[in-house]
Amino acid sequence: MRLFTVNAGYFKLDGGAMFGVVPKSMWNKANPADENNMCSWAMRCLLIEHGNYKILVDTGMGTKQDEKFFSHYYLHGDDTLEKSLAAHGFKPDDITDVFLTHLHFDHCGGAIVKEGDKLVPAFKKAFYWSDHKHWNSAINPNDREKASFLKENILPIEQSGQLRMVDTPEGGEWLQDIRIRYVNGHTDNMMLPQIKYNDTTILYCADLIPSAAHISMPWVMAYDMRPLDTLREKQRLLTEAVVNNWVLYFEHDPVNECCTLENTPKGIRVKETFTLAQLDEKIAKAK
Ligand SMILES: [Zn+2]
Repeated sequence: MRLFTVNAGYFKLDGGAMFGVVPKSMWNKANPADENNMCSWAMRCLLIEHGNYKILVDTGMGTKQDEKFFSHYYLHGDDTLEKSLAAHGFKPDDITDVFLTHLHFDHCGGAIVKEGDKLVPAFKKAFYWSDHKHWNSAINPNDREKASFLKENILPIEQSGQLRMVDTPEGGEWLQDIRIRYVNGHTDNMMLPQIKYNDTTILYCADLIPSAAHISMPWVMAYDMRPLDTLREKQRLLTEAVVNNWVLYFEHDPVNECCTLENTPKGIRVKETFTLAQLDEKIAKAK
């Protein structure tokens, strides 16, 4: 198995919304806001090359919305999904599977592109993987999540015939060495890939723990549908992670790609941060 960081770009979201009940005097040290209270966030996807599979986990927000939409999100930096794939030597048609942790626009927007006035899959040869329960809540969204589930990102996946549903029980293997963990605090049935990579386990944290700062228990996004469930889910998975010395992979942390954890008197905290490439170096050294 080979893993590649695929950065689909940076965007901005309101710091207060991203840090929930945590006061700005605290979160501003973790992720300093601009003059409009907006903080910078990554859209860090992951490419898993495994046997004949080339699985892209999440896709960033894509390019097909109008100027007004993008004006709310302040895209910045030079990274795009396509450029980052190309940097690792991959073309969109190489991708065999697109695994969507959930269907919020900043995770699945890049899955569908505009060709003329048609909305078509960006990855023409790939199956697109979602979850039944999540799919149903995305196509019948509640009023709070409506702005995050955009029809143009979601319906064309089904129309293309490329949509498939992950039908793996909690913690079960979806593919060899890739287990699925389900969490319901952020949205219905978000799927977190838990990847066995050499002798290490890597958890793709998606929006359960969007950045290293969110490891601390009360640091839960105001966007979450069920914040108390997020607390329980974080407690459960972080405990498992610290006991088994897992690596966490952050989708939205603007600086830190990965970290390990340790128990401290204040609770579970970051032990060490590093990039995926640095993790490879460590693994090579240990051999
Ligand atoms: Zn989300």
